[in-house]
Amino acid sequence: MDEPPYQVLFSVFTFVLGAVVGSFLNVCIYRLPLDLSVNEPRRSFCPACKNPIPWHQNLPLFSWLFLRGRCANCGAKIAFRYFAVELLTALLFLAVWQLFPWQIAIVYWVFVSLVIAATFIDFEHFIIPDQITIGGALAGIAASVLVPQLMDADSRVAALIRSALAAALGYIILWIVLEAGKLAFGKKRIRFDAPTPFSWNRHEDDADFVVGEERSLWSDHFARESDRLLLYCHEVKIDSRSYGEVTLDFHYNRLKAGDDEFALDQVNEIAGVAHALQIPREAMGRGDLKFLAAIGAFLGWRAVLFSLFGGSLVGSLVGLVTLVLGKRVWSAKLPFGPYLALGALIWMFFGDELVRWYIGLVSP
Ligand SMILES: [Zn+2]
Repeated sequence: MDEPPYQVLFSVFTFVLGAVVGSFLNVCIYRLPLDLSVNEPRRSFCPACKNPIPWHQNLPLFSWLFLRGRCANCGAKIAFRYFAVELLTALLFLAVWQLFPWQIAIVYWVFVSLVIAATFIDFEHFIIPDQITIGGALAGIAASVLVPQLMDADSRVAALIRSALAAALGYIILWIVLEAGKLAFGKKRIRFDAPTPFSWNRHEDDADFVVGEERSLWSDHFARESDRLLLYCHEVKIDSRSYGEVTLDFHYNRLKAGDDEFALDQVNEIAGVAHALQIPREAMGRGDLKFLAAIGAFLGWRAVLFSLFGGSLVGSLVGLVTLVLGKRVWSAKLPFGPYLALGALIWMFFGDELVRWYIGLVSP
């Protein structure tokens, strides 16, 4: 080791700091989408038994390993996600510290934290909260004023303008994609030529949805929590309850028939005759627009383009692979935010090399 000892010390400190921040991110990932405060109650608690977790059972990385992923009080399983988030944050903090000058590294720590929280919340809830996206965009602009090198600018004013413009570009470009997508796909209302029999049969977490000759997986029709599927029926039977002329208003997990509401995990079978169907076709939520704005505010306009196109490319590949493997449930449910996040991180670490490689390619 030819590194001076204090540098090793800094690296260890950085890794530990990352693990501690990762532990806090776990709290945000659990609490933000539920609108629980992140400081109140101050003490972490077990999601199963609500017992407060004492500090010595709440050490990042170690506790999860020593308790073998279980709550010390009630023995409930604690998701591997808690450990993964802490380790990922620690490793990314260390990598950022090794690769960038310290002023930039500190800003990138903040950015990495936002990206990790956004990714894991989006995976579980199909949303990215405004605290992360709008808060992140504002933080990115403020950071660019403090550290103009982030925007390759030599004055604070220039950095402010570049960062704000990159945020605006991120929002607008994805908005255009979204609106164009709506024009191309939109909500699709299908009117059947003749009354058409349909059925919905639950198996475990998913259901077979058959309309006329067309068979599909239930989860394939829903990308977002807010997506609605409408089925205009002449008659329908939901388990043992019968209805006449009624519109079934579905979300991915629940159903309204007239004044009655059903949770779909309580329903086994729906069958009837329909005359029209309206299916949702929105691949992205508004959260993704604001998230790309935050990416722009921290990393600049080229990162916006790279995250969008790189993210779409990886997203399509994963979609294709899962399609081939027959795991369509996953591909249909996978949100776009994590792909934007992946694109942004690749850009943050390798953007300069990628640009150099590209320039070498077009002008050898
Ligand atoms: Zn417990």
